Amino acid sequence: MEFIDLKAQQKRIRPQLWNRISSVLEHGRYILGPEVEELETKLAAFTGMRHCLGCSSGSTALDLVLTAWELGPGDAVLTTPFTFVATAESIAKTGATPVFVDIDPLTLNMDADRLEDALAALRDGDASRHPLPLPAKKGGLIPRAILPVDIFGRPADYDRILATAKHHGLKVLEDAAQGFGGRWHDLPLGGCGCDAAATSFFPTKPLGCYGDGGAVFTDDDALADRIDSLRYHGRASKKEKYENVRPGMNGRLDTIQAAILLAKWELFPEEIKLRNAVAARYESLLREAGLQERGLLPPPIPAGDGDLCIWAQYTVQLPQNSDRAAVIETMKSRGVPAAVHYPKGLHKQKAFAALAYGDGDFPVTEHATARVLSLPMHPYLEEEQQCEVVSALAEALAS
Ligand SMILES: *Cc1c(COP(=O)(O)O)cnc(C)c1O
Repeated sequence: MEFIDLKAQQKRIRPQLWNRISSVLEHGRYILGPEVEELETKLAAFTGMRHCLGCSSGSTALDLVLTAWELGPGDAVLTTPFTFVATAESIAKTGATPVFVDIDPLTLNMDADRLEDALAALRDGDASRHPLPLPAKKGGLIPRAILPVDIFGRPADYDRILATAKHHGLKVLEDAAQGFGGRWHDLPLGGCGCDAAATSFFPTKPLGCYGDGGAVFTDDDALADRIDSLRYHGRASKKEKYENVRPGMNGRLDTIQAAILLAKWELFPEEIKLRNAVAARYESLLREAGLQERGLLPPPIPAGDGDLCIWAQYTVQLPQNSDRAAVIETMKSRGVPAAVHYPKGLHKQKAFAALAYGDGDFPVTEHATARVLSLPMHPYLEEEQQCEVVSALAEALAS
């Protein structure tokens, strides 16, 4: 059994993939060729945003927005410590400081109550109210933006986050690397009211290419212009690529990857439904196996009207005190792969040691990182395979 079965998907669209790739080989416009624009137009329409800009990865998408916002030393960006490292890395790379905000124990997304606490603590330089990174003194860090993540494909708490951002005059960058395809209050993630959103086309993401890729979404014309320039070494315009008006980067999406995405795009609406059917089946299988009574916490299916998770991962929380390494071993011996997303909060990563966070600063994150286990998840997972997964998990928890 595959953890994420990309071959099952490929089998359905092989001829379309070859057609798309061979037209790129025919026209030979490998950098920002017509497929990139075609994809950008389709994805912008899907999210309802005015602009979609293809870029070289999800990490680059985050970098491009934060660079365009001219963040730097002394600026604080509030984000979650329970995410892939790229989220906080993008903040640190600008010279700004990631300020971590703990998560909700069920959704594993940023806890909006703690967000308010963090802002108050920053204002007063009062680390007793909420753990702060160095320098924790009053006025040491000025909050500029919030960077929420749609963890595992679940919309973050945008009701609260957007209201808080508005109240404090902060920008919001949505990290939709795992969320693209999901919905919040009937709005597609990537287009749910933030100033900008970043997504990733890493092969195993819900919409993935066959290499690295990503995109930025925004309604802000000036921001889109600036990102279009930044992703091409700060060129003045399309016609004047040897006029460089700002230090930029090589941050473009390859035409071949756009072509692959266009072939996969045809399947995406159906895959959104399939992923949700797989998640619903997991929930009932786990219930039938009585695992909740034994302390296992399945990921909640969003209950809100118009909210939809895209299930980039199906991540359960194991019962307290279970031996996760042993559980994984037992499942593996039955041919069932499982993975840990994520084993460590970012506040505990050496990469962020300079922020001087300590053990216990984000207890909900620390609790989650000790218990989470991701089960195989992809649109083509069959019921029979899911039964195997759940029975392997049940056996592993019984021993
Ligand atoms: C995958 C991911 C990224 C980075 O995307 P890449 O395309 O791998 O650079 C950023 N944030 C989150 C939450 C991710 O899951």
